[in-house]
Amino acid sequence: MPQDPVPALLGPLTELLETRFRDLPPSSQEMDRAAVTQVLETVVERLGDNYPYFHPLYAGQMLKPPHPVARAAYALAMTINPNNHARDGGRASSQMEIEAVAQIAAMFGWPEYLGHLTSSGTIANLEALWVAGQLGAGRIVASEQAHYTHQRISGVLKLGFSPVPADSRGRMDMDALEAELRRGGVGTVVATLGTTALGAVDPLEEILALRERYGFRLHVDAAYGGYFVLIPDVLDEPARRAFAAIGEADSIVVDPHKHGLQPYGCGCVLFRDPAVGRLYKHDSPYTYFTSKELHLGEISLECSRAGAAAVALWATQKLLPLVREGEFARGLKQGRRAALALDRKLREDSRFAPLAAGAPELDIVVWAVSHGAGPRDASQLAQKIFASCAARDLHLALVQLPRAWFAAPGSSPADEERMTCLRSVLMKPEHEEWLERIWQRFSAASADVLGSEQ
Ligand SMILES: *Cc1c(COP(=O)(O)O)cnc(C)c1O
Repeated sequence: MPQDPVPALLGPLTELLETRFRDLPPSSQEMDRAAVTQVLETVVERLGDNYPYFHPLYAGQMLKPPHPVARAAYALAMTINPNNHARDGGRASSQMEIEAVAQIAAMFGWPEYLGHLTSSGTIANLEALWVAGQLGAGRIVASEQAHYTHQRISGVLKLGFSPVPADSRGRMDMDALEAELRRGGVGTVVATLGTTALGAVDPLEEILALRERYGFRLHVDAAYGGYFVLIPDVLDEPARRAFAAIGEADSIVVDPHKHGLQPYGCGCVLFRDPAVGRLYKHDSPYTYFTSKELHLGEISLECSRAGAAAVALWATQKLLPLVREGEFARGLKQGRRAALALDRKLREDSRFAPLAAGAPELDIVVWAVSHGAGPRDASQLAQKIFASCAARDLHLALVQLPRAWFAAPGSSPADEERMTCLRSVLMKPEHEEWLERIWQRFSAASADVLGSEQ
């Protein structure tokens, strides 16, 4: 485990924070130090049963360690434990939330908006679709590669849901979307900018053109990909154009706890029209919600929320502002370059079949094993390589995708059969520097499974 800088940072700062309340008469919580230590030793023992998410050799699922400044700020806030449901519960942390969310909105080019943090991307999407459902009847439409919770959320809200097929890059198919729109009854289209499986970017400009023709509410789920709006120069043209149009959406969701270096418990929802605030509170005049003094509990589906999450986000964005040429953007670019480098290596290696339609759009790489006679073989081999990598401390992920998307032997464009593929989310800045070592371990682990003569 890397040397952890957080404990040393925290000691003197905790004391400093205590001095802010020194005028109060002393009080203390009873604690049996020995018993607490004993419990915590068991906690440490239990925590050892984890994949090493913090390490660059963990290159599997979407897991990125929070920045030390976020962890330290979160821990400091925990000595107060504010609740951002209202200013009464978290005076400083509500203000910090408002400032941090304004910076996220500015990243998407929105000086005016209504928005706040949520406990997750799922809750943020629930809120966006709840608002959408109140503003217009009609089905929710999203790509079949959209996050699985959209269908579930639609069920919770008792709104119809229609999945739209994805193309061989994992992007929403525009002909299929238009067919859905012609059928009528569509209330909201969910565009995913950065799908969870592939990091695919739905063609937002074309969806906007369809909005002109058919009229619907447009929600952008950028829980994973939102921050890539900061690095258009390293994206390919289609993704760049989609991110350039993101401000045209009616609502946007982004997860600071995915790419934003935050501990879990930090999603964010933004609405372009501040007047949607009226939907949260029936007896509030419209003007209340356009004032600068947001009352976060009055514009949130959730009641209690961790003020500490807002403090951590504020501190992180203070240190690493959300600007195009800043250090935060540089970190995103490093992961992006690592993904492209891994994709190139896979394309040069006949043992593997990366996505036939082209290179990754963000920093997620998926590939099939091209050995073996059919999809069942390829799936089994992918699983074996996954396990063989894990035995070498390299942690990848698995994903089920249509066989036709890969130039695997015997596959045809009409092949809808799914097979198990390997997947790597290269979202840590360190992944760029570690890529050669990752590749060596992966290549050796694959040779163990496939034979080394290839
Ligand atoms: C992760 C993710 C979600 C769900 O967010 P949680 O924070 O895990 O609840 C929704 N949409 C997309 C595109 C995601 O990647």
